[in-house]
Amino acid sequence: IKPKPTVFMIFGGTGDLAERKLIPALYNLFLAEYMPKEFKIVGLGRTAYQDDSFREVLLEGVNKHSRSGKAEKDKWAEFAEHISYLKADVHNEKDYEKMEKIIETCDASWSEPSVIIHYLAVTPQFFPIIAKNLAKMKLANDINRTRIVVEKPFGHDLESAKELNHLLKNIFHESQIYRIDHYLGKETVQNMLAFRFANALFEPIWNRNYIEHVQISVTEDIGVEDRGGYYNTSGALRDMVQNHILQVLCLVAMEPPVNFDAEEIRNRKVDVLRAMRKFGSEEIRHNTVRGQYSEGWVEGEKVVGYREEKDVDPDSNTETFAALKFFIDNWRWQNVPFYVRTGKRIHQKSSIISIQFKDVPHLIFPSKSTESWQQNRLIISIQPEMSIRLQVQAKRPGLDMILNPVDMVFNYDGTYSTDTPEAYETLLLDAMKGDQTLFMRGDQVETAWELLMPVLESWESKKSISFPNYSADSWGPETAEALIAKDGFHWFTLP
Ligand code: NAD
Repeated sequence: IKPKPTVFMIFGGTGDLAERKLIPALYNLFLAEYMPKEFKIVGLGRTAYQDDSFREVLLEGVNKHSRSGKAEKDKWAEFAEHISYLKADVHNEKDYEKMEKIIETCDASWSEPSVIIHYLAVTPQFFPIIAKNLAKMKLANDINRTRIVVEKPFGHDLESAKELNHLLKNIFHESQIYRIDHYLGKETVQNMLAFRFANALFEPIWNRNYIEHVQISVTEDIGVEDRGGYYNTSGALRDMVQNHILQVLCLVAMEPPVNFDAEEIRNRKVDVLRAMRKFGSEEIRHNTVRGQYSEGWVEGEKVVGYREEKDVDPDSNTETFAALKFFIDNWRWQNVPFYVRTGKRIHQKSSIISIQFKDVPHLIFPSKSTESWQQNRLIISIQPEMSIRLQVQAKRPGLDMILNPVDMVFNYDGTYSTDTPEAYETLLLDAMKGDQTLFMRGDQVETAWELLMPVLESWESKKSISFPNYSADSWGPETAEALIAKDGFHWFTLP
């Protein structure tokens, strides 16, 4: 089903996110014929552009960043006709009147009333002023027509997230608010739901009786690049754990929803967050690790340490690495550890969920058969490889009974010939259709903040940590290995 006629107001239309992600995503939706026949994309920014010069800039972005490669001339021309530019300042009420005019013009010529999506691709400090000014527009409180998409970060801590929720909910109904977490739009992440709830095979063993531990590891090989100023006020816990990693964890751990309804799925996810064991000082001491990278060598090139990065305080105690052990206090997961780690300037870029099953109850094979023994493991690789692999033991061919682990692999590239859509394509299409399943609800965001606040507060108050404590291109601080090794496990890495 195609979405209804839509007007996209992109605040921050000249920004990096719009250029690299939003416009290429909308263009690919257009190519795949998912865009409605009637749509308009309005880029808002402070720079002076004409429609044509703005379209030129966006075309360059599409040519550089679109998954479908360089734009085809005719197709782009057709798409670009739907794009216009409005020089606007978020503080200026008059500019919102101009936006209203654009919507009115669309409505006057289109076959039915449009859906209006206000996409906030600007720094979060502008979210309140934009929301307040939008509230003065005629259609702001029309539940059926107006939506607001809010980019991450959603708050800097629990208090600011609550404030932002409060402000937005005073103006919009929850069903109009789309808090984006692009991780949830990734194919493999969405496939968690299909994999768990469309197969009879896994549910009976998806619990503490069979699962020994779970790992979620999201590592990046790059440093902070040109985002040092922002990152220094954020850190790994805020930037990755509070949102992406906890959302993925919820998909692994949630109870089966009754149906595929957005509210039902989001209820089950928030149940997980509510059941997560609180961090007291003991848990913080034993179950959390933070790190910061020093200089090092990456592929033969010297790279600087975090404290030497552009716009980063030379004494910064911001963590560029975090590892935590979580527990979920409910019937399904009691005492099953969930280890998560994330970091920058790590040896390998990858996002992996690894579910390790308990060992067999009794080993019938002689010890020489089982030298490379490995418990069953289910590995969901989110990126860069998109795959699901089940590691099982098998007999190696030959005259001796030697066992070794083998992978049963479902690899997207090998299974499907079609290209996988980018996360932003999925999410923008859902926003147009009014499907909030893959967006975060206000209470989810707050519960996630609530869980991590004691850790954040403890890390911020104890500044005596000796940073940096891992070198660029390593696997993070040694203490992160110790966190999991003391329970007898190791971090899983793809070969
Ligand atoms: P950016 O600095 O590249 O762009 C900022 C945009 O805001 C520009 O278009 C600028 O014209 C506009 N702007 C600034 N002041 C304005 C004003 N007074 N009135 C109107 N417009 C104004 O930022 P970005 O990287 O595109 O990020 C935007 C938001 O998206 C941030 O909240 C960021 O955290 C989030 N985000 C970005 C990425 C990314 O890949 N860039 C990824 C996830 C989330």
